Formats: sequence, C-alpha cells, structure tokens
Amino acid sequence: MNEPIATIVVPCYNEEEVLQQTVPVLRSVLSRACEEQLISPASTVMLVDDGSKDATWMMIEEFAAHYPNVTGLKLSRNFGHQNALIAGMESARPYSDCVITIDADLQDDVQAIHEFLLKYHEGFDVVYGVRDARETDTVFKRDTALLFYRIMKMLGVDMVPNHADFRLLSRRVLDQFVNFQEENLFLRGMIPLLGFKHTKVYYNRGKRLAGESKYPLKKMLNFAIDGITSFSIAPIRMVTWLGVLISGLGFLYGLYALVQHFTGHVETGWTSLILSIWLIGGIQLIAIGIIGEYIGKIFKETKHRPRYVIETQCSSNEELAKSQN
Ligand code: UDP
Ligand code: MG
Repeated sequence: MNEPIATIVVPCYNEEEVLQQTVPVLRSVLSRACEEQLISPASTVMLVDDGSKDATWMMIEEFAAHYPNVTGLKLSRNFGHQNALIAGMESARPYSDCVITIDADLQDDVQAIHEFLLKYHEGFDVVYGVRDARETDTVFKRDTALLFYRIMKMLGVDMVPNHADFRLLSRRVLDQFVNFQEENLFLRGMIPLLGFKHTKVYYNRGKRLAGESKYPLKKMLNFAIDGITSFSIAPIRMVTWLGVLISGLGFLYGLYALVQHFTGHVETGWTSLILSIWLIGGIQLIAIGIIGEYIGKIFKETKHRPRYVIETQCSSNEELAKSQN
C-alpha cells in the first residue's frame, strides 16, 4: 500500500513572529512521520495567509520557494479563522488523503499529530485533538470556554468539549464536508454532524510561541454567538415561549383586574389599560418569536456568498502546483 499523502493546514493571520519557528517544527513532524512510513514523502505543510497586514505572506513565499514540502495560499482579505481553515482544507482535498489543521502559534502539541496519524492508520476518519489541561490559558478564557460548552450542550449541539480546530480529517470526510455550504461557519459543530469513525487524542495546550492572540474578546464573543445561532434556533424558540408565558400571566392579571373592576375598587380606564398592555405585549412577543423562527431559517439558507476568495498560491513543487490549478 502506498503511504497516504497528508497536508497540514495552518491558518496564519499576522503571524510573522511565530512562522520562523513553526515551519521548521512542522517540517520535522512531517519528516519523522515519513521516516516511520506513516505518510508519503509527498506530504506538505500548507500555510494559509488570512489577509495578514504584516510580513506573513512574504515569509510564506520564501518558505515555499525554499522547501518543496511547504506551500502557500493567500486569501484576498481577512476572512477569519474558520474560513481560512476551510480554504486550506478545500484546496488540499484534491491531492491529500488526510488533512490536519493546526494553529500557527503551535499552542497545540505537535507530537499529537503523530498520534493522529497512527489513529488514521487504525481506520479512524476523524481524529479530534482534545486539550487535557488548559493551565496556560487565562482563567477568564477557561471559564468563558466552559460556559460556552455548557450553553451549546443545553441547546442540543453535539460538540467535543475542549477541542479547538486541531484535528485530522480523512479524504472521505472532506469529500462529504464540501457539501456543507453554509455561510455561518462553525467547524466544531459541523464536523460531528458528518459522522464517520472518530476518536480523540489528548494533549497539553501550551503557550503561544510569540505575538498576541488573534482572538480578542470581541472576536471570541462573535464566534460564540455565531456558533450558537448557526446551530440552534433555541434562542428564538425561547422568545416564543416567553411570549406564551407573558400572555398567560397577562390573562390571569386581566381576570384579577376584571374582578377589581366589578367589585368597584378601581378608577375607570385602569382595567382596559392594564388588559391591553399585558395581552398585546404578550401576543406581540409570540408573533416576533414566530416570525423570528422563520427569518432565522431563511437567513441560514439564502446567503450563498463565497466563504473565501483565493488571491494567489505559491509552491516550488511543480507537480503540486499543477494539481492545484
Ligand atoms: N487566525 C486567522 N484569522 C483570523 C484570526 C486568527 O487565520 O482572523 C489564525 C491565527 O493566525 C492562528 C489561529 O487562527 O493560527 C488561532 O488564533 P490564535 O492563536 O490567536 O487564537 P487563540 O489561541 O488565542 O484562541
Ligand atoms: Mg493560539
């Protein structure tokens, strides 16, 4: 049997500070796996530049010119981490038997890649890297992450806790994955939907090699909101139920107001005022909830915008360059 061709996809956004270290480490991971005949010598590292504003792309071009097993993909602007990952995964799919995704800052343990490959050889199509300890993340990041996993679970979204986008996908899975054309991307929710034989590999998450996190609080919050709203209509349904509850309460309060009216305890006008405020308020909320339910669904379906735009690619490997075009 021929060894499988693996592609390590690395999204890079303003990562000039870490690439000098990241690329040699990933290349050595490839060569070790190659020596052990886990992967083919045609395996590569694909660096995806997600519209960086620093020297990231220049560095990627240099790496690609020097090393035949390093290629570069440049997106036309910053499309965000998830889109950059997808751009890499889809570009690598035609010539890869499996794709491994990892962040550029190497916070995830590269040794785990070796275990991913062993699992792949055991016949697993999806291998999730799961963080064993998160001591290097701030308490805030850990707590907010935990809260997020809880909310997702409550909403019925199937997710692997403590798994970020460090994983291996087989070609079979990628072939199915390209059929998921949704624009609101949340890979961690999408991959479990695909099914196939899957497993987890545990590892310790380290510190960023250098530079700042590219996920400031605002991006993290948006990411969480995207995750929730593109995977669940539970929040909209909650509005509907709130409307039902308020209408019910309004009805009871209305009865009370009527009794007050007929026992002559109130001024004229008060009863009808209270009744209309509560009843109409409740009905309005129900209506907004129902309309929202439909808009939410339509919203998910209608936007068929491209998820990323590739500006250019680079590779000193002629065969690869040919197959990419
Ligand atoms: N990233 C990206 N586009 C973005 C933001 C981040 O491609 O708009 C990349 C970034 O270069 C890194 C990965 O996504 O390789 C994860 O980002 P980071 O390590 O900053 O996130 P954190 O580990 O702090 O959650
Ligand atoms: Mg990081």
